[in-house]
Amino acid sequence: MLNSVPRKLSGSYLRKLKEEQERMRLEKLKDKPASEERHVGAVSEGKLKSFTAVCQTCGASTKFTVNALGFATCSNCRAQAAYRIGVA
Ligand SMILES: [Zn+2]
Repeated sequence: MLNSVPRKLSGSYLRKLKEEQERMRLEKLKDKPASEERHVGAVSEGKLKSFTAVCQTCGASTKFTVNALGFATCSNCRAQAAYRIGVA
């Protein structure tokens, strides 16, 4: 059954298929701008803040990281400060 397909026909069919796939590939590239990467970067940098202060737990002047809830964490001893940043 499969052998009954003429060679010429299957050859031109494959060529057309390749052309179609190439066309669709190029179209997809056009549809996908770089904005997706920019979006991801904005999300990861939006909420996280950090500042330098003297830690009341270990006494070192170190960097504190503020999480989304406003809690500051000492990067030296990992202690969480008793106060919150940016929250009334
Ligand atoms: Zn500390």
